[in-house]
Amino acid sequence: MEDLTPPGPTPEHPEHPADEQPILAVSHRLPVTMHRGPRGLERRQSTGGLVTALDPVLRKRGGTWIGWPGTRLPPEEQLSAPSDPYRIVPIPLSDTEVSRYYYGLSNRTLWPLFHCLPERARFDRRDWEIYEQVNLRFAEAAADAEQEGLVWIHDYQLLRTPLYLRRLRRGARIAFFLHIPFPPFDLFRILPWYREVLRGLLAADLIGFHVEGYAHNFMDCVERLLGVRVDWQSRRIQQGERTVQVGHFPLGIDFDLFDQRARSAPRVAREGAEKVVLGVDRLDYTKGIPERILAFERLLELHPEHRERVTLLQLAVPSRGEVTEYQRLKREIDELVGNVNGRFATATWSPIRYLYRSVPPDLLCALYRDAEVAAVTPLRDGMNLVAKEYVACQVDDPGVLVLSRLTGAAETMQEALLVTSYNVDSVASALHRALTMDESERRSRMLGLRRRERQNNVYVWVNAFLRAAQTTPAALGPPRDADFERWLGGFLNGLPLALFVDYDGTLTPIVDHPSRALLSDNTRAALRTLASRPDTNVTVVSGRALAGVRELVGVEGLTYAGNHGMEIVGPGLEPFRHEALAGFEEKTEELARSLDEIGAPGAWVEKKGATLTFHFREAEESAHHDLAEDARLRIEAAGFDLRDAHCAVEARPPIAWDKGQAVLHVLRNRYGPDWAESVRVIYIGDDQTDEDALHILAGLGVTFRVGSADTPTAASRLLSNVAAVEALLSWLAERARS
Ligand code: UDP
Repeated sequence: MEDLTPPGPTPEHPEHPADEQPILAVSHRLPVTMHRGPRGLERRQSTGGLVTALDPVLRKRGGTWIGWPGTRLPPEEQLSAPSDPYRIVPIPLSDTEVSRYYYGLSNRTLWPLFHCLPERARFDRRDWEIYEQVNLRFAEAAADAEQEGLVWIHDYQLLRTPLYLRRLRRGARIAFFLHIPFPPFDLFRILPWYREVLRGLLAADLIGFHVEGYAHNFMDCVERLLGVRVDWQSRRIQQGERTVQVGHFPLGIDFDLFDQRARSAPRVAREGAEKVVLGVDRLDYTKGIPERILAFERLLELHPEHRERVTLLQLAVPSRGEVTEYQRLKREIDELVGNVNGRFATATWSPIRYLYRSVPPDLLCALYRDAEVAAVTPLRDGMNLVAKEYVACQVDDPGVLVLSRLTGAAETMQEALLVTSYNVDSVASALHRALTMDESERRSRMLGLRRRERQNNVYVWVNAFLRAAQTTPAALGPPRDADFERWLGGFLNGLPLALFVDYDGTLTPIVDHPSRALLSDNTRAALRTLASRPDTNVTVVSGRALAGVRELVGVEGLTYAGNHGMEIVGPGLEPFRHEALAGFEEKTEELARSLDEIGAPGAWVEKKGATLTFHFREAEESAHHDLAEDARLRIEAAGFDLRDAHCAVEARPPIAWDKGQAVLHVLRNRYGPDWAESVRVIYIGDDQTDEDALHILAGLGVTFRVGSADTPTAASRLLSNVAAVEALLSWLAERARS
């Protein structure tokens, strides 16, 4: 929503709870706007749906509102007045920031794409960078506000702010509401930064959308693009150790306020026509104004009886005039209005009256009240409040609402005449039906619409959202059979399975000392069953020395690949040892001595033949950074390759061989060169050394990484922890035999 009307009174309302903690609201715009007037900087209260909803809650509970004041603000000038019931914190933005973060990324990229109009979207990396910077700035301000209680972040301008805030305040309770649609998967993934956007949102505890469809699209994107597990029934998402709740909360209006205004507003003189079809929109290409004009023209063509009797009164509120698309649209509308008027106007009647400006609230309500028909026909709209305001203003002879199905509002306002705005003929025929509808039908339809909007007003919306935000969602627990069935049932498809699993961090949790990383009974039992299945081969791929990992797992019939796959033994395979290893054992000994010299308490070297790992998990945490750096330098100086692991650095001979090569070696030698035709491959790993395998197997198998949505990975799916791996192994062990 945008603030379009001049300030009006903010109603106090009895329905919202006054008892709870203060709220920290974060939105692109503040509830007040600063203007340079004759007396210097002047403060004006904004209106619009969001302010109407939140302002009374903040007044009652106290709190802070962070946002942009709408103008360049010298830092010394204060926005807050001493009498304010809550704090107002302005975020200053430079001209470049406004142009790239707001007009650029927000309005030229996200706005069209999220409204399913990708051909209008522009993608510019610089815009994204500034968007990131500004989102970080909002998060820093939220963290600096040092306020207890909920942080409620709003809308598409701040999709990354939850993540930045989570990094600054781990324990914060963060809720997010998106006021525009969330697009379907195939459109959303066009965005070059789709992963970043999803990760940004998943840092919130509650993510709210207007309607179920948008929540569904979001969860679909999270599942398919990040591989994160989604529980569709409870609409929870497991994000590492956190659980994220998704919900839908259809925004309402202050019904009574509009109803009262409509009752008291003076009548507006009507010129020429008997009936008015009203359009009220920001001048935005999502609103379908040209299509509406064409539909009205079609109405006059098909039903000449409406000529000289009906006028389309189109109010277009100037918006985003800095963006070329909007300038072009304005010219297009001017021209269309001219065409239709030129074609049909008579000496006493113009088919279209077009006002390019905003009007005061009383006049708006009078226009709503007196219009026989409201044509609310956006091509796409997150909710659309005009439809609801029109309904609230039908206090006399009821009018008819013609409403686009492609609005969030249409999800509930089913008594309206629903149309698809792109279909000019059907809109024309809906307009005809609306103009000729008898009173009793009009009354029944309007009664239902009014009852619902009165009930589900903006205060109900705010309370429902806050109630959800104050409830901590229960953790999802490990995935269940139904999840595995959905992920893998079709994939396995009766073919044999080659399963590759890493050891530390995958089969066992990461612990203080490698010797304490032991398999759970369930995992060992699952591995035993898997080893006994003729349709399955399991390879344990580890950075540990071959003998070590074989002993720890201790299950017969498995293949073991030690030293990141440089040594492999298993049933039916020639034992493999990479030929270049022989020359390196001596050098590895030397490197081990060099690393021993570091001599920090709690740091130690694990020797694994040709490779080694320098561990520092048990050293002072403040020393970790320096220890790792020192080890890296020594490893590089000795001519070894290095890999960072969990509180450890691994050194291995500079041989072009990794876990990916090892996987291919096993597959080729066990199933032949055409293995991809005869076997299904699954790989499960947890760290950077597994990424080589995950990368090589992309598209060839199903790959899992233990981690959260924040983990950069080539894996197709994420498992949140070792318990999830255990559940997967058990499911694979027990699955129907092929
Ligand atoms: N509006 C306004 N001034 C006007 C005409 C309309 O402020 O001259 C308001 C209208 O009352 C409504 C809002 O603009 O609350 C438009 O909200 P909507 O959800 O329909 O569309 P948005 O502009 O948020 O895309």
